[in-house]
Amino acid sequence: MKKINFSINSFFIFISVIFVVMVAGLFFQFNSVINKTSSEINKIEINRANALTRKLVLHVRNKITGNFSILLKDKALRKVISNFLSLYITDEFKYIYVIYKDKKGIYRYLLDGSDSLDRGEFKQKFNPLLENLWKKSFQIGRPMHGFQSKADGLWITYLHPIMINGKTRAVLAVDISTKEYQNLNNFLIPLYDFLKIFLFVITVIVLVVLSQMYMFYKERKKSIIDPLTRLHNRNYLKEIWNKINLEKVAILMLDIDHFKSVNDTYGHDIGDVVLRSIAKRLMSEIRLEDRVIRYGGEEFLIFLEWPKNDDEVMQISQRICKSIANDKIRINEDLSINITISIGVNINPSNSGTLREAIILADKMLYTAKNEGRNRVAYSK
Ligand code: GH3
Ligand code: MG
Ligand code: MG
Repeated sequence: MKKINFSINSFFIFISVIFVVMVAGLFFQFNSVINKTSSEINKIEINRANALTRKLVLHVRNKITGNFSILLKDKALRKVISNFLSLYITDEFKYIYVIYKDKKGIYRYLLDGSDSLDRGEFKQKFNPLLENLWKKSFQIGRPMHGFQSKADGLWITYLHPIMINGKTRAVLAVDISTKEYQNLNNFLIPLYDFLKIFLFVITVIVLVVLSQMYMFYKERKKSIIDPLTRLHNRNYLKEIWNKINLEKVAILMLDIDHFKSVNDTYGHDIGDVVLRSIAKRLMSEIRLEDRVIRYGGEEFLIFLEWPKNDDEVMQISQRICKSIANDKIRINEDLSINITISIGVNINPSNSGTLREAIILADKMLYTAKNEGRNRVAYSK
C-alpha cells in the first residue's frame, strides 16, 4: 500500500511539473515570437529608412555634382535642397537633416528639412545624442542606425553618409518617431500582457484542480485504508460490493487463533505489531489481483480472483495457514510469538446466490475450523 501511495504522490508531482514546464515552454515560445515580431518590425523600418535616405542622398549628390563646397557657399541651393528634404517629413520620418564637420571637427547643420520650429540653421552646432554612431558614420562611410533612448518621441536614427570622391563630406540623418513603434506596441503589449495573465490564470486553475484532485484522492484513500495494517477496510468492500463476480472468485474468511490471549499476555501494542505482521504476510501470500480486506478486529477476508479449480483454492488456503503457523512472528530480539490462524473457505460463492450469503458461508466454515481445533482450513463447496 505504501508503494501505491508513493507512486500516486509522484504521479501528481509529475503531472504538476509537466504542466508547469509546458506553460513555461509556451510562455517562452510566445515571448520569442513577440521578440521576433518586434525585431522584424525594426528591420522593416530600417529598410524603409535606408530606401528613403538613399534616394535623398542621391538627390543631394546630383544637385551639387561632385562639388561639396558649393553647399557651404550657395544659400539658395541649400534652401532648394532643404525644401526638397522637407517634402519627405511625415509623422514617421520626423526630422531629415544633413550634418557636416567643420575644420575643428565640430558637427554643424548644413541642411535641414524639418519643420521650421525644430529647424537647425546653417552652421548651427549640432550635439548628437548617439555620438558614437555619428562618429562611426563619418569614419566608416556606411549607412547605419541607432536606437534612441534619450530623445523624447524618437525611436530610430538612420544615418546615410554623403560620399564625394571616396570621402564622407556630410551625413544625412533621418529620425524616425516612436509613433509607428507605439502603434505596433499598442498591439503587441496588450497581447503580451493578455498572454501573461492568461497563462498565469490557467496555471493557477490547473494547479488548484490538481491539488483538489490530490486531496480528494488522499481523503478517499484514507477512508478505504485501515491505518494499522494498511490493508483495505470494510468501506472498500462496500465500494467493490457490486463489482464482485461470484462466478470468478473464491472467498476466504480468516481469524487469528486466541488473539485475545496475545493481547492479555504481551499487551495491546504487541497485539498491534502481530496484526501488522499477519497483514504483511497475507499480502505476500496472495497475487496482485487478489484482495485482502481487514474485515474485523483480527478477521480478514480474502477474495481469490479467477481460481483455476477447487484444488487450487484449497492449496492456497492451506499454504496461507501453514505459512503463518510455521513462521514465528518476531517482535524484538528477545521475543518471537507463535501465531496460528483458522480459515473458512467458500470455494464456489456462486452457489450462495448473493455476496452476503457467500460471506456468511465462509464465516460459518471459519467457525467449523475453530470448532475442529483451530490452525486449520474448513471448506464449503
Ligand atoms: P478465537 O481463536 O476464538 O478467535 O479467539 P480470539 O481470542 O482470537 O477471539 P476473540 O474474537 O474473542 O478475540 C479477538 C480479540 O482481538 C479481541 C480484541 O481485543 C482483539 N483485537 C481486535 N482488534 C484489535 C486491534 O486492532 N489491536 C489489538 N491489539 N487487538 C485487537
Ligand atoms: Mg480470533
Ligand atoms: Mg475474531
